[in-house]
Amino acid sequence: MLRLAAVKPLTQIRERTEELERASLSTWATLAVETKGRDRYEEPDPLRTAFQRDRDRITHCKAFRRLKDKTQVFIRAGDHYRVRLTHTLEVAQIGRTMARGLRLNEDLVEAIALGHDLGHTPFGHAGEEALSVFTTEPFRHNEQSLRIVERLERGGRGLNLTWEVRDGILNHPWAMPEPATAEGQVVRLADRIAYLNHDLDDAFRAGVLNVDDVPVEVRLSLGETTSQRITTMVTDVIVNCLDRPVVALSPGVNDLQHLLRDFLFERVYLRPESNAERDRAIHCLRSITVFYLENPARLPVEFRGDAPLVERVCDYVSGMTDGYALAEFARLFLPTN
Ligand code: MG
Repeated sequence: MLRLAAVKPLTQIRERTEELERASLSTWATLAVETKGRDRYEEPDPLRTAFQRDRDRITHCKAFRRLKDKTQVFIRAGDHYRVRLTHTLEVAQIGRTMARGLRLNEDLVEAIALGHDLGHTPFGHAGEEALSVFTTEPFRHNEQSLRIVERLERGGRGLNLTWEVRDGILNHPWAMPEPATAEGQVVRLADRIAYLNHDLDDAFRAGVLNVDDVPVEVRLSLGETTSQRITTMVTDVIVNCLDRPVVALSPGVNDLQHLLRDFLFERVYLRPESNAERDRAIHCLRSITVFYLENPARLPVEFRGDAPLVERVCDYVSGMTDGYALAEFARLFLPTN
C-alpha cells in the first residue's frame, strides 16, 4: 500500500533538479531557474523545469507529429531514408551528447532541437521556394517554426514557450544571428553535423554517390563510416570547447566540414537530376496555394481568421505533410474516375 505520508511535496522534485543544474553545469550553461520566462506567466510545474516542460509541449504538439511525413532531402524515396522527424531526433541526440560533454543544459538543447524544424514545408527546401513567390519576404522555415509555437498551435494560443527555446529555434540557421545561449549554439552545430552525415548516407543509399566519391581528406581525417564521422565531429567540438565560452569545431575539422558541405551541394543538393523532382514538388504546392488564394472560403475553418490571406494560406500549405499535399493536389485537380 502506498504510504502517502512518506511522499515529499512534489515541488521538491523540480527544485532538486534546479539545484542539481546549479551545482553541476558549466558557468556558461543556461539554468532553467534563470530563464527570461514566457510571454504569459504560468505557475512553475511541480515536477519539471521550465525547459523540460517546453520540450514536452513540443513533443506533444501537432506540428511535431507531422514531421514524420516531411521530406529531408530525398522526396518520398523509401522507408530507410531520413525524414524531417528522424533528422530532428538525430539533431537532438547529437546535441545532447555535446551538451553533456560540455556540461551545458541538455533539457534546453533537447527542446530547441525538437522544435527547430517544426515550420518546414512539405518536400524540403523546394517547399520554401514554392511559397516564396507569394510572400513579400522569402518564406523561411525557421520563422515558420517560431510562428507555429507562438501563434498556430493550441487553436491559436501557441505553446507559450520560454524565451531561450524560441531564440534557439529562430536563430538555428547559420544565416541568422548567433543564438543567445550556448545551448542554442550547440543545436545549430548539431543540426549541421547531423545533416551532413545523414544526407551523405542517404545519397549512398540512393546510388547518387559511391563511398569512393567522398573527398579523400574527409575519409582520412573524419572517418570512413557515418558513425566514425559523427563521432569525430562531436568529439572535436567537446575537446575544442571544454571550459571555454565557445561552441565550435576546431579550425582543422571545421575546414573539413566545409569541404564536405561544398561536396554535398555540388553532388547531391544541386545535382541536375534532382531538378525534375523539385519542379514537380513546386508545381504541386503552388497550384494548391493559388487555389486557396482564389477560393479562401474553402480553407479549413482554423485558417479563416483575421490574418492576411496569403499568411493564412501559407500557414496551411507549409504545414502539410508530403502525403497530405499530394492527396490535396489530387483532390483539387485530378479527375476521380
Ligand atoms: Mg534541421
